[in-house]
Amino acid sequence: MTDKNESLFLRAQKTTPGGVNSPVRAFRSVGGTPRFITHAEGPYFWDAEDRRYIDYIGSWGPAIVGHAHPTVVKAVQEAAARGLGFGAPTEGEIEMAEEICKLVPSIEQVRLVSSGTEATMSALRLARGATKRDKIIKFEGCYHGHADSLLVKAGSGLLTFGNPTSAGVPEDFIQHTLVLDYNNCQQLEDTFKACGKDIACVIVEPVAGNMNLIKASPEFLQTMRRLCTEHGSVLIFDEVMCGFRVALGGAQALYNIQPDITALGKVIGGGLPVAAFGGRADLMANMAPLGKVYQAGTLSGNPVAVAAGLSTLKLIQEPNFYTQLSDQTSKLVTGLIAAANKAGVTFCADSVGGMFGLYFSKEVPSSYAQMMASDTEKFNRFFHLMLDAGIYLAPSAFEAGFVSAQHDDKVIETTILEAEKAFSQMRA
Ligand SMILES: *Cc1c(COP(=O)(O)O)cnc(C)c1O
Repeated sequence: MTDKNESLFLRAQKTTPGGVNSPVRAFRSVGGTPRFITHAEGPYFWDAEDRRYIDYIGSWGPAIVGHAHPTVVKAVQEAAARGLGFGAPTEGEIEMAEEICKLVPSIEQVRLVSSGTEATMSALRLARGATKRDKIIKFEGCYHGHADSLLVKAGSGLLTFGNPTSAGVPEDFIQHTLVLDYNNCQQLEDTFKACGKDIACVIVEPVAGNMNLIKASPEFLQTMRRLCTEHGSVLIFDEVMCGFRVALGGAQALYNIQPDITALGKVIGGGLPVAAFGGRADLMANMAPLGKVYQAGTLSGNPVAVAAGLSTLKLIQEPNFYTQLSDQTSKLVTGLIAAANKAGVTFCADSVGGMFGLYFSKEVPSSYAQMMASDTEKFNRFFHLMLDAGIYLAPSAFEAGFVSAQHDDKVIETTILEAEKAFSQMRA
């Protein structure tokens, strides 16, 4: 066999642990050989064998306007030609902050960082610094990046390994992290009753996308908002994935709930490393150089990355952008459900904005435990049948999927047609 993906994977494993720079890319949970991507355009990318795929991971969210969008590419090229980075402020960073504050009204001030991990980690430090409390609440199955105190039964890649925590995280570092069930209001009430005065913050994915797609119930988020207000705790929405993905103003616009701090990432970098955390001005005033909470970054607000982010943020404000994105995603999900029904395969699916979930279970899950009970063997089979047909889904049953503005009717129809074939083969 001279498959180029396979030889690249063998070569990669010699110098990179597992051959990849982020675990889920290694196809461990679905098996087989990861595809090495050479280029991408619109809704497609191509692997080392020059095979074309319809891409449903969109760089795990950022590629919302489609890959290599000419406007974004031009902005990046022009910024690069002016210099790659200065370690001194630029006007682009102001524009980026202004755009974010305009689009997400709960954000009065914002700081740019380079990854979602940095954004959530810094948001936690800010919450702890501002409240002078140590304890934090997170929810099982929510992933907030790989900072030590958050790697407690975290979701995503870790689920796949069947290992709820990471080695190398001292017990001492996570003793202040309380892990509760997603969508469980009573447990939240009980926890605040027991130790509300010690809780610095609650951090949540208001639409969870790292244990597949799981929506929060409005009541769950409302309860959280009320309890945080009552107990002087900071409510952090981790919208690194769902921000500018489920709606223009993020999940907080969809649910009409104002968090105190929001973490952003993925879409706001348009494919380059930009993330951010921001919120109430009085809280943000705790950040250095104004306040005592330290945080910094050599590449924070990098001008080339900001150019990609800013041009993406402008494109998503075009009229009807989110209506169309939602419609295309709904069409996909409805078509897949119909295809599975026709073949008699137990399957359901859900979507919100440009994000979707596929579940090999009878009902759409609403908690981590329900998600874990889905049929991963069936998912893996489906994944490979689709991959062979040129449709690239997330290589794990526990990841959400992403649609871009370039996924037109033809692309969606092709996907549904291939899914019909896959489902009927699965029953056979
Ligand atoms: C991806 C993600 C992160 C981490 O972002 P990185 O840029 O990968 O560090 C944090 N929170 C959520 C909800 C995410 O989806």
